[in-house]
Amino acid sequence: MSIQSINPATEEVIATFAAFGEGQVSEALDQARAAFQRWRQTPFAERADLLRRVAAYLRHHSAELARDATLEMGKPIVESEAEIEKCAWNCEFYADNAAAFLADEPVVTNAAASYVSYLPLGVVLAVMPWNFPYWQVIRFAAPALMAGNTAVLKHASNVTGAALAIERVFREAGLPEGAFRTLIVPGSEVERIIADPRIAAVTLTGSDAAGVSVAAAAGRALKKTVLELGGSDPFIVLEDADLDAAARMAVRSRYQNTGQSCIAAKRFIVADAVAESFVEKLAAEAARLRVGDPLDRETQVGPLARGDLREALERQVRASVEMGARVVLGGTPIAGKGYFYAPTVLADVTPEMPAFREETFGPVAAVIRARDAAEAVALANDSPYGLGGNLWTRDIQRGRELARRIESGGVFINGMTASDPRLPFGGVKRSGYGRELSVFGIREFTNIQTVWIGPAAASAPMKAHSDPRATTE
Ligand code: NAP
Repeated sequence: MSIQSINPATEEVIATFAAFGEGQVSEALDQARAAFQRWRQTPFAERADLLRRVAAYLRHHSAELARDATLEMGKPIVESEAEIEKCAWNCEFYADNAAAFLADEPVVTNAAASYVSYLPLGVVLAVMPWNFPYWQVIRFAAPALMAGNTAVLKHASNVTGAALAIERVFREAGLPEGAFRTLIVPGSEVERIIADPRIAAVTLTGSDAAGVSVAAAAGRALKKTVLELGGSDPFIVLEDADLDAAARMAVRSRYQNTGQSCIAAKRFIVADAVAESFVEKLAAEAARLRVGDPLDRETQVGPLARGDLREALERQVRASVEMGARVVLGGTPIAGKGYFYAPTVLADVTPEMPAFREETFGPVAAVIRARDAAEAVALANDSPYGLGGNLWTRDIQRGRELARRIESGGVFINGMTASDPRLPFGGVKRSGYGRELSVFGIREFTNIQTVWIGPAAASAPMKAHSDPRATTE
């Protein structure tokens, strides 16, 4: 079987890769397992040195890595470069902080001493998406490796070039042989790999449909999972918001990465009193976006990553318009070569429409009206997803109170949702579970081990007692 990379701006085949056979997968798992036995013994300082070398390598090779990602999945080149810089930052962040995040934590109990240790689990399988082809992998790999785990990557099939590039980055930066391996396999192979006893745990970033498959397979094998899935983030604009700033940020949040971001604002829920004005400003800003060749440094919106993804977006827009949504801007694919889709603004969107209920993974903003803040929050929560959320108001205290009522893994007030190594990242509901980044992310793939130490020499014979704190499970 072969797997192809296709340039989405030209529809030309860039490369064809032979999928791994069973023997190659097995060999990679053996190597990753053997590497784990050595890597888990290495001191934090040594692991940190490695990650700093990875960061330096990424920066040194940024131009070629960025170009390759843009050719393979269509991201505007300036955004590809920014993605690589963010990967380097994440490596350095964990190089600087992992030892403190995972230091033994003493706990006062009836023991002579007791503490909690964070120990690595083993080989972690990462199933990753194409939309941030380097970042999604490094977001997981930097903390996992710093914790003493090793990793195998099953990347999205359309970014196999990036998958191999990341393996090369780790190897050339000096990671021990086998500690990070890329497996070139289709999604249909994932269940078998999860069941393999050499795999300790699984992390998936992808759609909720893939989440269901991966979680079910991991459940059958009783393996820990972290799931970072899709989102349909609300962007609430209250009547007291700074509308110009909100509209500018709305455009950045919605159209960045050509709208293909899990934490892009997708549903713009706007107070009635300012709705018309907001739609006008949003559409005017979006109309100025420069769509075109993603290798051109002036381009802000490139093609969608694959033809089937553009078809899915077309279906969602068409069905929403048939149900009464009003096209204020765009609303159609762009004719010619490449999977381009015009930046789109839909107004009068209501909850039963696909543009509201489903995740739209492309440059389509859906605007929904709300009577007041209470209805805005109810609409925000009326979604199967709960990844990020945005709220615009000049009244910060009110914003904080409303944030507690929004069902999502994050709320950004007067800003746009963005991941940051210092803050936890993840979702609730069909956006998944578990957290990446920060101290929470690095502890996901650890064995949180309790150590309890009694006196070195027993001072009294064992006797029955009724202390509830000393009963066994
Ligand atoms: P996808 O189709 O779910 O694919 C993601 C990964 O899962 C790919 O490696 C894919 O392999 C694999 N896969 C697909 N179906 C599978 C199955 N049934 N069993 C096992 N593996 C399977 O998602 P995508 O189109 O690449 O990415 C877009 C989605 O990811 C969106 O929903 C987006 O919101 C979400 N996402 C979430 C986050 C987050 O942090 N929460 C971040 C980025 C993206 P193949 O390519 O070989 O099919």
